[in-house]
Amino acid sequence: MSGRSSSAALFARGRNSIPDGVNSPLRSFQLVGGDPLAAREARGSRVIDVDGKEYVDFLNGFGALILGHAHPEVADAIGQQAKRGTSYGLSTEAEYELAERIVASTSAIEAIRFVCSGTEAVMTATRIARSHTGRNLILKFRGSYHGHSDALLASPLNLQQGESSLKSVSRGITHNANRDVLLAEYNDEEEVAKIFSEHGDSIAAVLVEPHSTNMGFVKSRPGFIKSLRDITHQYGALLIFDEVVSGFRFNFGGVSNLFGIDPDLTTFGKIIGGGTPVGAFAGKALYLSQVAAGGGVFQSGTFAGNPLTTAAGIATLKVLSRPGFYDQLEAKGAWVEQQLTSGFAGHRIPFRVSRVGSVLGIAFRDSSEPLKDYRDVKTQDYETFTRFHRRLRDAGFLLAPSLEEPIFLSAAHTDADLRAFTEATVDALRELYSAVAG
Ligand SMILES: *Cc1c(COP(=O)(O)O)cnc(C)c1O
Repeated sequence: MSGRSSSAALFARGRNSIPDGVNSPLRSFQLVGGDPLAAREARGSRVIDVDGKEYVDFLNGFGALILGHAHPEVADAIGQQAKRGTSYGLSTEAEYELAERIVASTSAIEAIRFVCSGTEAVMTATRIARSHTGRNLILKFRGSYHGHSDALLASPLNLQQGESSLKSVSRGITHNANRDVLLAEYNDEEEVAKIFSEHGDSIAAVLVEPHSTNMGFVKSRPGFIKSLRDITHQYGALLIFDEVVSGFRFNFGGVSNLFGIDPDLTTFGKIIGGGTPVGAFAGKALYLSQVAAGGGVFQSGTFAGNPLTTAAGIATLKVLSRPGFYDQLEAKGAWVEQQLTSGFAGHRIPFRVSRVGSVLGIAFRDSSEPLKDYRDVKTQDYETFTRFHRRLRDAGFLLAPSLEEPIFLSAAHTDADLRAFTEATVDALRELYSAVAG
């Protein structure tokens, strides 16, 4: 292509009024280089950028769009509601319906409150845990992301120097907030046990994604999450599952159902809003009652439980609850995994695919072992990923612009989409890897 694309012109304009021209950092594509994409419209499995180029989308709103873009039932629900008002500052019957559907879906959940983002959901869940236990410390995992509240961007790493490029590290957080958080490596139950043996009486909660979706895709090892349930019980700390991505992604409800492990608190986001801004915190009534009058924990929101989100959320959950929905997604995921794995083997590409249901990660390193923690994540070949991302983009496939994000399939992906994607992936890696190895 010659000259600057209209995406580039648009971003040049955007940078004059918005830092980097983006309202959320990954959208700048700085990690993979090249001009960022600006979307014009999207439907089903496809996104069309402002230059008119069409992509098969594997970013899928960072996992929010399990039905793909502009699903007709979801779009209708939003359109109908918009004509009846978009915000009342009053409660609605639809909020109760969405709440009832989620409460009924997951054994660990008796009550729920909606907020407008995953950030708020996790922020409030940790506030409840601190209130309930009267303790300060939150134990979380290296490489995890739980939204951008001060309390969760807080990290002992902020007190050190030299890791400022990590997305989970930020300046501008007070020393005290940074001291209120502890970090362990994901999947490392021994390190967790050691931390509890030193700080157990001060730990309010362990905060964990049941599979980690914010450092690529790192599956929890069998027994790891159970070990967190056991040790939190032992020390009287709460266990919080951050299911902002995993909730309703692998099954109808929380991953807690699949594991047979009940966390004390669960956070949701992304999928339950049907592609509109949402978050929710949920759990046993005992904990949720703290945000009721007299419970002592404050939380509120002008747009919390707003009518557009509840309409989109209900419409989405209706589709997800139809028989066979998750079986079909599982079949798509299994097929993609099998095609990539056999393609890699056939071309001596040493990369390994990790998958649960419709979420996949490719580990860009020469090892048959799956990624187990953030140390492993950082051993990957980020340079080759950058080139891979560019090739797939040129070929019309949109991936999250970071190796530390997973590949999300949606119900809208057709067999032809997935075949083209797996072929393009194997082709690109075959060329890139033989260039590296050769
Ligand atoms: C996206 C995400 C959040 C934050 O949600 P926002 O709606 O972006 O504020 C929190 N936790 C996890 C695991 C996430 O992936």
